[in-house]
Amino acid sequence: QSEVQKFRLNHKIKIYGTDVPNPIQSFKDLKTIYNVKPYLENNLKDNGFNMPTPIQMQATTIMLHKRDLIACSPTGSGKTLSFIIPILHILKSPMKKGFRAVIISPTRELAQQIYREFQMIAKGKPFRFCLLSKATNLNTETGYNKNFDILISTPLRLVHAIQHESIKLDGVQQLVLDEADRLLELGFLEQMDEIIAACNSPTLQTSLFSATIHSGVESIARTIMKDPIRIVIGQKNA
Ligand code: ADP
Ligand code: MG
Repeated sequence: QSEVQKFRLNHKIKIYGTDVPNPIQSFKDLKTIYNVKPYLENNLKDNGFNMPTPIQMQATTIMLHKRDLIACSPTGSGKTLSFIIPILHILKSPMKKGFRAVIISPTRELAQQIYREFQMIAKGKPFRFCLLSKATNLNTETGYNKNFDILISTPLRLVHAIQHESIKLDGVQQLVLDEADRLLELGFLEQMDEIIAACNSPTLQTSLFSATIHSGVESIARTIMKDPIRIVIGQKNA
């Protein structure tokens, strides 16, 4: 048994898939192995995030390698930071090229929490976040709003923006479906189809995060993902 296998076992990290990147063992590894910028490291420290949680150890490196991901980890285990860190690293700097990352959340409240955590971890880097709400005026004559880098939305609001505000998502490189089991429930399915169709970059990387992953979610995931890696943390669904 390799050291990495032992490490995963100790942290109850189960993985399924090909060529799975090694987990980080500390946030310091982000700098030494992935050359993550100091602002990110400092913001983690300043907010009291001293050690990555198991999902953060494994999900961050899979996303840093731009692999599709299905991540199942209990509520409260730190899934938000697992996608915030690699997204900020991969986007590097604000670009004025329009949306490059999209995070979908089933409720407005959860979307707001994700938005706040992004701002906390991005502090010092002038990334532009758009938390899409009824009040947001996208102001897109061409369908592109170049002022923004990262979009956070509920499915319904984003579908409205696609249909009535001609928002363009063809530059999106990272799509995260948070609470994916809820997003892929019947009521949301058509909306999710429309969002996934709008994110039509051939190099799109897709990640699903959830506390539980039903078999229905797995089969949908298979239709939208390329060679995904699965992570299961803890006992649930194992
Ligand atoms: P989940 O999405 O898995 O339910 P969250 O991402 O909302 O979990 O995180 C739950 C709580 O844990 C939040 O208050 C968050 O700030 C905290 N947290 C996340 N990662 C860490 C960490 N590495 N160290 C300490 N606290 C953390
Ligand atoms: Mg969450």
